[in-house]
Amino acid sequence: MATARTTRYQCCVCGDPATLSAPDYVELTVQAPDLDGHQWLGAHRSCLNRVFNVEIIIGE
Ligand SMILES: [Zn+2]
Repeated sequence: MATARTTRYQCCVCGDPATLSAPDYVELTVQAPDLDGHQWLGAHRSCLNRVFNVEIIIGE
């Protein structure tokens, strides 16, 4: 079961730091294939949909 996080990253698309109350907040990890480690990114789902022109669905 997922536990709610108390900290969130600012939206990497619009730069809004007030994502704590955003109902459509999502997190992404990016990783370089040849490097160790990864980077977390936070975003509004609606921002990602606008940038990538895809529909991101939360929960099934
Ligand atoms: Zn945003």
